Amino acid sequence: MPELPEVETIRRGLAGELTGSIFSGVEIINESSMPESSSLGTELLLDQEIVGLRRRGKVLIIDVGKNYSLLIHLKMTGQLILERPDGGREGGGHPTKAMVSALPDKSTRVVFDFSDGKRLFFNDQRKFGWIKLKDRGEVEQDSLLMRMGEEPLEAGFIEEVLRKKLRGRKAPIKALLLDQTTVAGLGNIYVDESLHLAKIHPETKAIDLNDEQIAKLHSSIVNIIRTAVRLEGTTLRNYLNHRGEKGGYFEHARVFDRTGLPCPECGEEIEKIRVAGRGTHICVNCQRK
Ligand SMILES: [Zn+2]
Repeated sequence: MPELPEVETIRRGLAGELTGSIFSGVEIINESSMPESSSLGTELLLDQEIVGLRRRGKVLIIDVGKNYSLLIHLKMTGQLILERPDGGREGGGHPTKAMVSALPDKSTRVVFDFSDGKRLFFNDQRKFGWIKLKDRGEVEQDSLLMRMGEEPLEAGFIEEVLRKKLRGRKAPIKALLLDQTTVAGLGNIYVDESLHLAKIHPETKAIDLNDEQIAKLHSSIVNIIRTAVRLEGTTLRNYLNHRGEKGGYFEHARVFDRTGLPCPECGEEIEKIRVAGRGTHICVNCQRK
């Protein structure tokens, strides 16, 4: 599932391509991919300009004209891929690593057309992702966004904030970090990576972490997320950026999906266990209970 670094990579890419573009058409191929479109009506988008792209946790927010915003959650397998009028997708000097050929394909659920000839494809193999058209004023009141914790790369995410969120909590630390109300935007990949860097076993109850461990966890989350954004995210299976290219973090992963390979710190074999219902990668030598 795309996490903060993947959504941020898409946001940056699309901001460069679509800011100032004007909607000329919306084609909804799968109704449930745009579940609330009937209440506002996607024709409201026509002739409206994209004025900016924001992100909150794993949610991409495209601001349209003065009054509307599109909220997009990619969930398990969502992709947002931009095609230029010449059919090309590359640009910006990146080596071409495109994984997508002709669009639309059988996973395409929604297509947005723009008056400059660009097309944005929302592909979603598993159909858990969604796009919602909202009044701009309702975005801040959206219950999902309101409940989210601090953004890990913003100034508000200080050690004390994390300490307060974890205080007295008896749940395993991994479960609490997957909960978007603790810190925004973390998922299975970067929680495993952060806990390994912090040398904390994922089953440790939050209440049992001392001040030093929480300080280390805080700096590890910031470090891992910053690195992953710089490397443009992780592609395990479905994630692609707006050009249809894979992310670069996977080759740098410490433990995630590296079962049986040596720990980068101590050489011990990385093991896969189950925590909070999720496949979890750890070094039992570095991350003692
Ligand atoms: Zn180790």
